[in-house]
Amino acid sequence: MAVQTQVKTFLNYVNGEWVEASTNETISCINPANKHDVVGNVQKSGKEDVDQAVAAAHQALASWKKLSGAARGEFLYKAANILESRADEIAETMTKEMGKTLGEAKGETLRGVAILRYYAGEGMRKTGDVIPSSDSEALMFTTRVPLGVVGVISPWNFPVAIPVWKMAPGLIYGNTIVIKPAQEAAVTAVKVIECLDEAGIPAGVVNLVTGTGSQVGQAIVDHPQVNGITFTGSNQTGKAIGQAALARGAKYQLEMGGKNPVIIAADADLDLAVDGTISGGLRSTGQKCTATSRVIVHEDVYDAFKEKLIAKVKELKVGPGLEGETWMGPCSSEKQLETVLSYIEKGQAEGASLLYGGQRLEAPEMKDGFYVEPTVFENVKSSMAISQEEIFGPVLALIKVGTMEEAIELANDVEFGLSASIYTTNISHMLSFINDMEAGLVRINAETAGVELQAPFGGMKQSSSHSREQGQAAMEFYTSIKTVFVKG
Ligand code: NDP
Repeated sequence: MAVQTQVKTFLNYVNGEWVEASTNETISCINPANKHDVVGNVQKSGKEDVDQAVAAAHQALASWKKLSGAARGEFLYKAANILESRADEIAETMTKEMGKTLGEAKGETLRGVAILRYYAGEGMRKTGDVIPSSDSEALMFTTRVPLGVVGVISPWNFPVAIPVWKMAPGLIYGNTIVIKPAQEAAVTAVKVIECLDEAGIPAGVVNLVTGTGSQVGQAIVDHPQVNGITFTGSNQTGKAIGQAALARGAKYQLEMGGKNPVIIAADADLDLAVDGTISGGLRSTGQKCTATSRVIVHEDVYDAFKEKLIAKVKELKVGPGLEGETWMGPCSSEKQLETVLSYIEKGQAEGASLLYGGQRLEAPEMKDGFYVEPTVFENVKSSMAISQEEIFGPVLALIKVGTMEEAIELANDVEFGLSASIYTTNISHMLSFINDMEAGLVRINAETAGVELQAPFGGMKQSSSHSREQGQAAMEFYTSIKTVFVKG
């Protein structure tokens, strides 16, 4: 048990100042590797704090949107350099706060740097088209204008990358921001905002208000001066946010859950497939919206694949993310651990066979953390809860099939459609998969969980509100098209 000597309290960032919440309350962010270790306290804000942040963002909008894209980009380049120089410290905070391994946290922080630089460059790229007018003496073209004040509601699983991939395009296209990060990862988010502050971003352009979703998040969603809301998290919360935004005519963008399949064809390179299944399904303790959770394997290679998979899963080292040899850290919170354990129980109750794992890890050095074994089920039917619902934990469900048609049909037999992958050496299988898979991201001979910042990202079906984030696709949400007709 770690003894806390001094726990730092982090403040909200409103109108360019670091301020306490009006409530005088704070929330403790704890280390999921050791619940007695308080990583920091953050403000438990209320509606009044949101009102002040939105007022500041509204006030800052006129001058921020008047700047050229290149000038706005300069702030993002500076913030990128500062984030890069603080990458080790911020990655360590992330690992302490939500549990992913230090290597993954460092990789994510550097991805945040790359995203900032990518969007800084976008400030100098085209945002419109010339369209031939039917009047030969006129010039017709499109330009884009910012949405206005954008509310960012982010989850805990990518505490740097998600806030950055939502804020950076928002800012470069001339919007101002009010962000509420998830409580479980709020200290990391504060540090990201510190980088923007140190970069000299004008007062009010970015505002951070920490607190609960039900208080702070809801107040942002309902605020009449918030013109758009971008959210990543659960389907339940996302849908409620979408409905509230729709009711008052605000634009919204929702990235929600996944139940992502990997198909292993009879002609697959099995070693590659095993590595991709483990990395896609179990890295980050399975807490990625793109994590692999259903493993659909052709019967001809089922036994061989299963044997290789289990042999490698047994080797995975679970432990605190800060320790160099750890491959998989704890679940991010007690609530998350309980969810995972409840699905493991449900899987057994519904008749799936537990092949490996399934237990909470409670050795003396782990008993104060939220650790669970990497877990593999077989004899899973598509109708079972572990095959249909997002678990967000290190749980793989093996499903045996006889044909590729059956494999794709089962892969599509869920309400989600975020990412999907196939391991095969057969070009016809690849093409059917690309054509028939109902997912926003389809990957061949690569794990489900790879996302590149310069490419559109988002899901089909219940996985998103059908818009796309990242790359140039982000422009759609953060701007409105204005069609201009000029006659001399
Ligand atoms: P939530 O969807 O509840 O949380 C995501 C964000 O929304 C957090 O910042 C949260 O605040 C905020 N929020 C919660 N309620 C409201 C509200 N009424 N109005 C506005 N904002 C709100 O997810 P959880 O963290 O509770 O995780 C539950 C499950 O969601 C996971 O098990 C996983 O299945 C899924 N999930 C999916 C993610 C993805 O990447 N697609 C990411 C995270 C979770 P706060 O939590 O601080 O109260």
